[in-house]
Amino acid sequence: VREHFLPAGFKAPKLLTRLNANENPYGPPQSAQKAVMDSVKNGNRYAWKEMFDLVDKIAKKEGVPTDHIMMGPGSSDLLEKVAMVLFMNGGNVVSADPCYMSLIKVAESVGATWKAVPCTADWSHDLKAMEAAVDENTRLVYVCNPNNPTGAITTGKDLLDFCSRVSEKVPVFVDEAYIELAVGADTQSMVSLLAEKKNVIVARTFSKIMGMAGLRVGYMAALPAFLEKINKITRGGMGISYTSVFAASASLDDKDFQNVTRKLNHEAKQYLYKNLDKLGYKYIPSYTNFVLFPVTIPGEELLSKMTTKGIGIRAFDIQNRPWCRVSIGTMEEMKVFVNALGQLS
Ligand code: PLP
Repeated sequence: VREHFLPAGFKAPKLLTRLNANENPYGPPQSAQKAVMDSVKNGNRYAWKEMFDLVDKIAKKEGVPTDHIMMGPGSSDLLEKVAMVLFMNGGNVVSADPCYMSLIKVAESVGATWKAVPCTADWSHDLKAMEAAVDENTRLVYVCNPNNPTGAITTGKDLLDFCSRVSEKVPVFVDEAYIELAVGADTQSMVSLLAEKKNVIVARTFSKIMGMAGLRVGYMAALPAFLEKINKITRGGMGISYTSVFAASASLDDKDFQNVTRKLNHEAKQYLYKNLDKLGYKYIPSYTNFVLFPVTIPGEELLSKMTTKGIGIRAFDIQNRPWCRVSIGTMEEMKVFVNALGQLS
């Protein structure tokens, strides 16, 4: 997988239709906004106790003891911390290709090699090939489910067996950023494996279904020994602002907001599917808030044309073809996107 970027010197107009970062167009929920406003007056204090309260709430939700949770300002921070600590003495990381590259890129930049395992024909993880790719230099297996940028899913039961087996040899990191948006699929969090003392690490974020991408809260659940190793070098939780701790707590409780997001995301995605069908584009069925489909013009050209219209999307080369990844915005935003797509020559 290779991502395209705008040509150097490209004069980009303001992006009015932001469909490039898989954000939640409805957030943050009113409850979180109020929590931020009510708590800001105490922002002269460190949020130690308040963070413990949040960890408590998260641990209860996940069904694990509190020492199994490490907080971060977004899950990116945790992905990158894990990559830095695990790969500072080299080794390799096994993952699907394509997959979300944040952890892999940091691992590579501190000296790791990436063992990229192509996805299967239906874009799920090739679990057999990934297991076979694990060798004596493998420090971590990274799984993103549902996957980004494909939006595809790997069946929960198959993944559970895989994680259970492979984590006996090396830690398995499962990035579940989009799991709450997977409608109509066999998804299950791999967090249940922690009760069996399996060496899995599960990352979750408040950026997607909770609508808090700019407020920056995420966490990972893992065995205490694993978290200690990370914490010794780079402390978790320090980067979260006082107000975001409260926003996260309110969002967790706000099931109505999560349900509305899930429903509106599903409806706007169905609208997009219908119109991609009409325009003759074949897409990968998505279990997330974005859709990936092959296009007939080069990625850079697609990016330039859409950006010129004020529409943000992402462009990738995968298997030697250009692809467009569009986030699911509001219905209005999807209409703007579909209209622009129809005008591409
Ligand atoms: N993991 C995946 C698969 C993502 O797509 C993203 C963001 O798009 C992240 C992690 C990071 O999100 P954040 O740092 O906002 O929690």
